[in-house]
Amino acid sequence: MAATKGNCFICGKTAGKTAIKNHILKDHNGGDEQCLLFKAEGLYDKEYWLYFTVPVNAALTAVDKFLRQIWCECCGHLSAFGRGGSEFGKARKISELGVGDTLLYEYDFGSTTEIVLTVVGAVSRPKRKEKVQLFARNAPLEEVCEKCGAPATQVNVWEQELLCDKCAAKVDDEAALLPFVNSPRCGECGYTGEQDKWTFAKGK
Ligand SMILES: [Zn+2]
Ligand SMILES: [Zn+2]
Ligand SMILES: [Zn+2]
Repeated sequence: MAATKGNCFICGKTAGKTAIKNHILKDHNGGDEQCLLFKAEGLYDKEYWLYFTVPVNAALTAVDKFLRQIWCECCGHLSAFGRGGSEFGKARKISELGVGDTLLYEYDFGSTTEIVLTVVGAVSRPKRKEKVQLFARNAPLEEVCEKCGAPATQVNVWEQELLCDKCAAKVDDEAALLPFVNSPRCGECGYTGEQDKWTFAKGK
């Protein structure tokens, strides 16, 4: 699969995953608030990725809340962070991590979504109220309906099949359908992406 491009949410630049990271470190590094820059990727779906900053004095609870909103939340399932195979509690501070560290985030221990977090830089940013700030994100994947080739908008969960609106309307069991959304949790449990408010808009 071709690597997905993404958008810088600070200036609107479009680039690949690594180029965006270098761009953030070079062009969006500066301010009063000391932070770490994280990369998040689906463990199995690396075409889904995020870059975000978190102040070093914040706790992992802020990252849990953010990942739930942008990528995970469907029915209030449990979640956990792991480091080197053991649990890393949510009360732990960001300052306990350093560049190069990785964490595994798991949401829902039934149909689990697994996300790898990597600390890719020590940066600073202008102070803001929200602890976690999204800096960049992959552009929505452009997949096609497996029946007719039109742009895919829905997932038939039982058949594990991408569909367009027209073909989805012919599926007898409506409960089988979920929206095709920009998240590694797409098509799992009841995930619809309703809390994801980070849609990229040009010229923002
Ligand atoms: Zn930028
Ligand atoms: Zn659920
Ligand atoms: Zn179709």
